[in-house]
Amino acid sequence: MTESTDPADTRPSPATLAVWAGEDRYLVDRATQVPVVHSVSFGYDDFDEWYDVATGVAKGHIYGRNTNPTVAVFEDKLRILEGAEAATSAATGMAAISNSLHALLRPGSKVVSVKDTYGGTSLLFTEFLPSIGIEVDLVDTTDFEAIETAIAAGCDLLYLETPTNPTLKVLDLPRLIAAGHAQGAIVMVDNTFATPINQLPLSLGADLVVHSATKFLGGHADALGGVVAGRRDLVEKVYHYREINGATLDPMAAYLLLRGMKTLHLRVERQAQNAHAVASFLEGHDRVTRVNYPGLTSHPQHDIAARQMSGFGGMLSFALDGGLESVKKFLPHMRYAHRAANLGSVETIIGPPATTSHVECTPEERAALGIPEGLVRYSTGIEGIDDLIADLTQALDAV
Ligand code: PLP
Repeated sequence: MTESTDPADTRPSPATLAVWAGEDRYLVDRATQVPVVHSVSFGYDDFDEWYDVATGVAKGHIYGRNTNPTVAVFEDKLRILEGAEAATSAATGMAAISNSLHALLRPGSKVVSVKDTYGGTSLLFTEFLPSIGIEVDLVDTTDFEAIETAIAAGCDLLYLETPTNPTLKVLDLPRLIAAGHAQGAIVMVDNTFATPINQLPLSLGADLVVHSATKFLGGHADALGGVVAGRRDLVEKVYHYREINGATLDPMAAYLLLRGMKTLHLRVERQAQNAHAVASFLEGHDRVTRVNYPGLTSHPQHDIAARQMSGFGGMLSFALDGGLESVKKFLPHMRYAHRAANLGSVETIIGPPATTSHVECTPEERAALGIPEGLVRYSTGIEGIDDLIADLTQALDAV
C-alpha cells in the first residue's frame, strides 16, 4: 500500500503526472527508470530497524506478498493520478474488486449496485457475496430514482461502474454518491473505462476508485493487474485483506503497467478521438441499428457524461441488424482489430459480450442484463482513423 506523505500534493496536469508521478523514491544509482525488483524478501541486519518496518512504524519492505518497490511505484502513480490518499494493488482487476468487497463487507451487509456492471463483478454480486450472507440489490442502471430508493432502504456499500461494460451507460456520479453518503454507505466506483484522464470519481465524492489496470492503464495488453485508491482507512483494510489473501501484483507486471502508464494521456486522448469518429460513422450506417458512445449527442446520458467526464473515452458498442448471425459474418472480415476478450490496448479490439465482458454469463443471464446477442464491443486503438473507418466499411459491406 502506498499513501500520501504530502497532504498538499500539488497537482500538475494528468499528462505530466502520468510521466513523472511516484517515481523518484525508487530511482537507484542515478537510474532514470524504475527498476524491476525481483526479490521475494528484503533483509535487515539490525533487529530494531527490521521490527520497525515489519510493524509499519518505519517505511520499507519485508516480503513480496505484502509489498515490493516496483509495485509501490505503480500504486503511487495511480494514487496521485486519481488524487487519492492511499492506493493498493492486486494481481488482476477482479482481485482488486473482490478483495475490496470481502475486506469491507460482512455477513448481513447490504450492497446496492446496478445491473450493468462488468460480468465478473456481476457474478460476485449474484453468486459469491450472497453465498456468504451479503445481500445485494442490483437496480436498473439508468433508473437513478430506483437506485436512490434501493439505497434508502439500507446500504452499506454502493458499487458503481461508469461508463458500463459493454453497454456504455453512464451513471450520474455526484447524484448517486450523495445518495450513498446520506445513507452512510461506502461508495466505490470502477473507473476502468474512463481512466483518471477522463474522470476523477474521488473528486466527485466517491470513497474508493478501482481499476482493471490490465486495460487502459497498462494499455499494451501484456500485463494483468488491479488497483484500488481512495480513503486511507478503507485502503488499509483492503491492503490487509489482500496481503493475507495473497492476490499480489507481480513486480514484472507492475513494471509493464508503469511503463504503459507513461503514455496514458496520449493514448487515451487519441483513442477518444478515434472512438468518437468511429461512433459517428457507425451511427450513419444502415447495417447498424444502435451505437452506444457517451460522446454522441444521441446517447441518453450524454449531458451527464459531459458534466462529469473530461473526455468520452475509447470504448463503444454497436448492434448489427440481423443479430448474432450478422456478428458472426462481420467479425472475420475485420483487418485492424483483434477479436479478443480484452480492451484498452493500443490495438483496436472487438468482440461480442458472449465471448468478452459477459463470457461467464448464460444467454439468459445476458438477456436479463439487457445485453443483446447482436452487440459488438469496440475498444478503439490508436491506429489512423481513416484506416479504422475503411476497415469497418469493408467488413460491414461483407455482412
Ligand atoms: N472492471 C471492468 C470494467 C472490466 O472491463 C474488467 C475486465 O474486463 C474488470 C473490471 C476485471 O479486470 P481483470 O480482467 O483485470 O480482472
